[in-house]
Amino acid sequence: MLATHTIDNWVLGLTGGIGSGKSAVSDMFEQLGSTVVDADIVAREVVAPGTEGLHAITAHFTDDVLNDDGSLNRAHLRHIIFADETKKTWLNNLLHPLIREKILSDLNSANSEYVVLVAPLLFENNLDQYCQHTLVVDVPVEVQLNRTVRRDNVSEQQAKSIIASQMKREDKLTRADDVLDNNRALKLVASDVEKLHSQYLIHAKKRKTTNTVGR
Ligand code: ADP
Repeated sequence: MLATHTIDNWVLGLTGGIGSGKSAVSDMFEQLGSTVVDADIVAREVVAPGTEGLHAITAHFTDDVLNDDGSLNRAHLRHIIFADETKKTWLNNLLHPLIREKILSDLNSANSEYVVLVAPLLFENNLDQYCQHTLVVDVPVEVQLNRTVRRDNVSEQQAKSIIASQMKREDKLTRADDVLDNNRALKLVASDVEKLHSQYLIHAKKRKTTNTVGR
């Protein structure tokens, strides 16, 4: 069953390219009391052992895609679908609705004043349709590249190709309601996050009042 697309909670969509600082910034919002729904974490949850998602995958690709402990061997699955468009499409058709449904249900069940949806591909996957407001964490591409290489221990070439597969920095900035400069000390960023948080609380309270009055 598909989850309802009406979300009562006020939702902030938090995005930015790989290595821009989404996790660092979403931790700050969490510290301030907001519930964070992370699309990357949800993508792993829907294929955890015992889920409908993992069951469908093993039924299609056999148990060869499992690790010894019963969890999904993601590297092996990536290898299987890499050169096979049909298998890749099958997997995407399975996973995208499951991920979307879980994101929506997590957004709906959050109890904080407002909820933060973190997604690297927020705009690319049209997840911004569920958000009242969007915030882009922004750094120059050079910084993004350096931080990704250092964090993930990948080559500069690998990091560049991931960056190239995501929406261009300029396009994200054009689409965002707010932009947070993360090319500076985290302490300064945290102070701006506090200011944004106060504004978002006001927006969220207004929405709650409107929703209640409208009922
Ligand atoms: P994302 O979630 O967007 O991929 P992260 O939040 O994981 O990015 O940040 C990428 C890397 O850069 C991490 O190692 C993080 O600790 C580091 N980082 C994030 N923000 C800053 C900052 N303002 N100054 C220095 N390092 C940072």
